[in-house]
Amino acid sequence: MKNHQHQPRKRFGQNFLKDNHVIQNIIAAINPKPNDRVIEIGPGLGALTKPLLEHVIKLEVIELDRNLVTKLKDFSNAQDLTKKLIIHQADALKFDYSQLERNHDEKLRIIGNLPYNISTPLIFHLLNYCPIIQDMHFMLQYELVERISSKPNHKSYGKLSVMLQYFCQATTLFIVEPQAFYPAPKVRSAIIRLVPHASPAYPSNNIERLREVTGAAFNQRRKTLANSLKNYLNQADFITLVIDPRIRPEQLTVSEFVRIANFIEDKLKLSPE
Ligand code: SAM
Repeated sequence: MKNHQHQPRKRFGQNFLKDNHVIQNIIAAINPKPNDRVIEIGPGLGALTKPLLEHVIKLEVIELDRNLVTKLKDFSNAQDLTKKLIIHQADALKFDYSQLERNHDEKLRIIGNLPYNISTPLIFHLLNYCPIIQDMHFMLQYELVERISSKPNHKSYGKLSVMLQYFCQATTLFIVEPQAFYPAPKVRSAIIRLVPHASPAYPSNNIERLREVTGAAFNQRRKTLANSLKNYLNQADFITLVIDPRIRPEQLTVSEFVRIANFIEDKLKLSPE
């Protein structure tokens, strides 16, 4: 499984890790234990797969590119790893993670140097499985990592930060420079750790409403809440919510967004329109 034997495919977002130091740092950050149920998305040429196999009893990988799956299978056969390395030739975006076998309450540890072109929808797909996920470690474009983990009052704080942080605690671990990959991407990347909350501090009573309201607020991020949410809330509503209508969306915390969305959900239930 050498780089020169495979022509990287742009449409599959293939940027293979080649820097051993970075690879070791990622494995150290994941800190895999023998019995962990590790699932790797997009193993590619095995840059992370091989060192992971040294730590865990069993590893499952999901790869879309048939050529790479063939290479992985050849490697697995040659190394007599067929029982240890389970290869799914599948689209990680459509994969049903709940079908993976688990003993008792075992939770999944999901990792991946993700294809940049599907990172956001893939993470949103995975959020559906939060109750069975222990943690996720992903390599993403740095700009995306910033947006996911950003806090209120920062330029990068937006809908993505609110939705992700509603489900998970997000921590940026370290930056990875383009030279660590083959071919080198144009931008810097970073490793992010996402740990699903045991239960959300402020439960939403309708996630879709939270998504909609957060989207509406940030759609016009320079406008006040009174303006951007005028289709949902009047002045009296803001008083009931104890939220200043003159502030901008980036000043609201995740729990405040949940409070607003829950209020709107209740209001619409009382007078559906
Ligand atoms: N893990 C390898 C590494 O670090 O060198 C490869 C990472 S590369 C950025 C992304 C990998 O995801 C590629 O192997 C690519 O073929 C695979 N991939 C792309 N789209 C996918 C999808 N929808 N489902 C599963 N794998 C996918």
